[in-house]
Amino acid sequence: MTHGPGISGLILEEPLLWEKGKQGRTAFSMPDQDVPEATAKLPQELLGSGPEFPDLSEVDVVRHYTRLSGWNFGIDTGMYPLGSCTMKYNPKINEKMAATHGIVSSHPLLSDDLSQGSLQILFELQTFLAQITGMDAVSLQPAAGAQGEMAGMLIFAAYFRKKGEKRNKILIPDTAHGTNPASAALCGFKPVQIKSGDDGTLDVNLVSELMDEDTVGIMLTNPNTLGLFEESIREITAIVHAKGGLVYGDGANMNAVMGMVDFKRCGVDIMHLNLHKTFSTPHGGGGPGAGPICVVSELEDFLPIPRVVKHDESYQLKYDCLDSIGRLHAFFGNFAVLVRAYSYILSMGAQNLKKTSQLAVLNANYVKESLRDVLHLAYEKPCMHECVFSDLMQREYNISTLDMAKRLIDHGYHPPTIYFPLVVPGAIMIEPTETENKEDIDQFIAVFKDVVREAKDNGERLRQAPTRTKRRRLDETMAARKPCLIG
Ligand SMILES: *Cc1c(COP(=O)(O)O)cnc(C)c1O
Repeated sequence: MTHGPGISGLILEEPLLWEKGKQGRTAFSMPDQDVPEATAKLPQELLGSGPEFPDLSEVDVVRHYTRLSGWNFGIDTGMYPLGSCTMKYNPKINEKMAATHGIVSSHPLLSDDLSQGSLQILFELQTFLAQITGMDAVSLQPAAGAQGEMAGMLIFAAYFRKKGEKRNKILIPDTAHGTNPASAALCGFKPVQIKSGDDGTLDVNLVSELMDEDTVGIMLTNPNTLGLFEESIREITAIVHAKGGLVYGDGANMNAVMGMVDFKRCGVDIMHLNLHKTFSTPHGGGGPGAGPICVVSELEDFLPIPRVVKHDESYQLKYDCLDSIGRLHAFFGNFAVLVRAYSYILSMGAQNLKKTSQLAVLNANYVKESLRDVLHLAYEKPCMHECVFSDLMQREYNISTLDMAKRLIDHGYHPPTIYFPLVVPGAIMIEPTETENKEDIDQFIAVFKDVVREAKDNGERLRQAPTRTKRRRLDETMAARKPCLIG
């Protein structure tokens, strides 16, 4: 049996604080009261009836939270091959930069002339992102990929409104992230699904059939969510443009193509980036992110406000933009995430960003080639930053993707993305990222092979996995819908 990083060592169980508490126990001692007790009492209705808090000592509280903190799995704990999410290691220097005194203490209401440093960071980051994508202008306003998509769809709507055209449909491939159709629908467009071709990429003829003058354009992801490069992108964007449409590019998978693909030359009009994925900000769990949008110059005037501009040698926030789609939220987005991305880009340099993508693609292809004998490979072609398998070969043993994913947890790995994209039944999508070294990837591959062997030899154990965690298989629907927060 290959050993993963998971060990069964000091596994401490931890009750809820409500179960630990004992009446009268406190975390401090006060001297005896030497003044008379106040007689005035707050009226009952002001006191309300809040929850009963448990009485705990200091050591109870410290141990409780210290133990819980060890239950988290994060990229600082181990390999996290969650496809489509780019869970790569985030260098600590970026954290340090984001915590710099001048940055932490700057206030969003300070005037432009007192915020020159912060504005310079924003302006230069805009410039870097334009260079990396090949696009003309950038807004850092959107606070997530999904908000970038929504800003993009609002720009689509504003563009056609200004032209006096009424169009109400949008083409979206069946492999798209769920946020794509949701963002389009929020802006009043009816998503029309495009079925992917047998090779996992878009069929040019189908796009040509579906694109008409009632359609605002297309929303595509490149590389797509199967980890495949849409090789016909230029033909597809030409078809859309010929019908007067616009092209939205979901750039969440930029980690595969930094410094290699010029999206403007591919015919993309607007795209978003996920700084928290590609540009090294810790993410997951709903924390702050950033989803800047990059546009071609024809759409620049529609970008959200405020815009960060440079006049002579000074930086300013510009609000008087007549065609702008307006504000997306208060202030400037998640500034500290933008600082991390700026620090990441500067510390890497252009050459190393390109190398990052090359290594991310190399690692994914290495995993693909190493596991293809034991897992069914969904598409027979080189992949980009992630590769997609399925449980087709394990079904004869009555073992599913879920069983294998759960067993990986026993070995100390966060499972890959499973059952997504929907076009591959039983999908297992692995994204190793560039930050894993060869030995760690080899260890992951060896463990995965053991799990696959177990599917044949000891299926029952697999169906019961995870066996080494404190909780076994949860009812995931109930856990999400009715979380048990106070015991
Ligand atoms: C993550 C992701 C999104 C959404 O980004 P958020 O920042 O989570 O809103 C959109 N599209 C793709 C392909 C993604 O991987």
